Amino acid sequence: MKPVGLRYLKNVTTLQLDQSKCIGCGVCEKVCPHGVFTLKDNQAQVVDGDACIECGGCALNCPAEALQVQAGVGCASAIIKGWLSGSEPNCDCSNDSNCC
Ligand code: SF4
Ligand code: SF4
Repeated sequence: MKPVGLRYLKNVTTLQLDQSKCIGCGVCEKVCPHGVFTLKDNQAQVVDGDACIECGGCALNCPAEALQVQAGVGCASAIIKGWLSGSEPNCDCSNDSNCC
């Protein structure tokens, strides 16, 4: 089930889908905890890329190596703080700190 209202930072996910490799097995749709994929015409499609938390589950389980993502903690703590405080997530990557 997709968590309602939980968002990652816009347009920053490293998730990549190579549809030319996709065999339409549907595993990514099943394993993704954030409802990033749907299957249409026997092909995976990214329907909500900004919901991706880069957990790596889809790429790890894709039997056709059609998915790539740089899995890691990323800016997860900033995002969780944003959720808890009701503000926009801000990991402040621009200030040369050891962020991420
Ligand atoms: S797990 Fe891979 S092969 Fe299966 S539907 Fe998703 S992208 Fe396509
Ligand atoms: S990396 Fe995780 S959250 Fe992102 S699309 Fe894959 S399974 Fe979903």
